[in-house]
Amino acid sequence: MPSPTPHAAFPGAVWPAIPPTPAAALLAVLGQLAESQFMTADQLAMARRPQLEALMAHAAAQLPFWRKRLKAAGLDPQSAKNAALSLTEWHTRWAALPVLTRAEVQSLDAQLRVAKLPDGHGVVGESVTSGSSGRPVRIARSTLDYFYWQAFQLREHVWRGRDLAGRFLTILRDDSRQVIDESIHLRSMADWGPPASVVWPTGKSFLLDYRAPIRLLVETIRELQPDYLCTFPSLLMEILRHARGEGIELPPLKEAIGVGEASPPELAGLCREVWNAPLCSTYTAAETGAMAYQCREGGRWHVQAEKSYIEVLDSDGRPCEPGETGRVIVTPLHNFAMPLLRYEIGDLATVGQGPCPCGRSLPILDAIPGRARDLLMLPSGEFRPPYYGHHAVMQVRSIRQHQVIQTSRHRVCLRLVVAHPLTRDEEAHVLKSARDALGAGFEVDIEYIDEIVRGPTGKFAEFERRC
Ligand SMILES: [Zn+2]
Repeated sequence: MPSPTPHAAFPGAVWPAIPPTPAAALLAVLGQLAESQFMTADQLAMARRPQLEALMAHAAAQLPFWRKRLKAAGLDPQSAKNAALSLTEWHTRWAALPVLTRAEVQSLDAQLRVAKLPDGHGVVGESVTSGSSGRPVRIARSTLDYFYWQAFQLREHVWRGRDLAGRFLTILRDDSRQVIDESIHLRSMADWGPPASVVWPTGKSFLLDYRAPIRLLVETIRELQPDYLCTFPSLLMEILRHARGEGIELPPLKEAIGVGEASPPELAGLCREVWNAPLCSTYTAAETGAMAYQCREGGRWHVQAEKSYIEVLDSDGRPCEPGETGRVIVTPLHNFAMPLLRYEIGDLATVGQGPCPCGRSLPILDAIPGRARDLLMLPSGEFRPPYYGHHAVMQVRSIRQHQVIQTSRHRVCLRLVVAHPLTRDEEAHVLKSARDALGAGFEVDIEYIDEIVRGPTGKFAEFERRC
């Protein structure tokens, strides 16, 4: 698909356009990404190494914590010996660098923040992760890091072949909202906003605050007739269930985009069934920005390796083989405000193997099952992804929303918001499916509630462990 023509800085220079400076900078990065997506693994590692070394040298020069850690791993940037190392030796030493845990980031905090950014990196802002449990992690981020994130947002539009003239509806939290009641809070914008509108002419966009009854959100979608809908997967699920349950026909949609949470496995199918639209999920985090994008051809995930150096490790700290699921370790390459080298972000991912039908050779993840902190604790004390008969729960159409809470090592509670009381058979079906899926040793019960309240930033954990 040809790339869209950017804004022109001068009249009469329309195509090929000479873009204005901010657009030109973004497009210059985007152009390099168009080539690096076809690099082999070794080419990618070689291209990334000078960036990683620059980050390490900066971290070691400014922060005693990193100076000590890098030296212990044989990666002392002061000695300038790294450049002479072979790729294999370099990787061996990199693997000796201890993983940085979330708990360390929380407790060390100021020791991980640099006093001075290099020229051109801008100023320091802060991202706060909205973990549903525990203390939030605060990450200092530079202007330059945000700039890179924007370039990768553009890449996603290009990869997905989005029609930039389309109408783009986002349903998330709108912090400009003053009064929180049961009404609709909608803002209309003339374009999609940065970064897309900085570079290209775009259609209109809308921001709809999610704090309204589902019925009203669905009515608003019908009125606005968006081409694209971007929201939390759990909220999209509720919208689709509501439309299906009430027999409401939704206007044609080009694509649904899930952000902020892992998409439940059955969501793509439901989106096809109810809306006849593909679902695109993005894997991003407040700490790092873009980490992986779902491929339009084949549906697997391409690691955004030019921004986030991602490793997937097993419980012994060794790299997972294709097909294995392990802990995601990420090194954001461009954030010099708070260098995070081998940061354990708390997610799991399944390593995939190429080739991808799209022809891109960036590393592949087959699945990103969910947050590691929300794993189910088995009666034995071990953990595993929380399969609890999700699909069976979904089959009961009067269930509008559900949340599964593990309250102790032996007890799981299904909290249900229902449109109509469940029949005795439906209730038995849900309980039996959950017991079968969870396995022996669990007591399962149902709690009916009026509403499931979202976390402070609107994120929602479908499964929560409270033990
Ligand atoms: Zn692909």
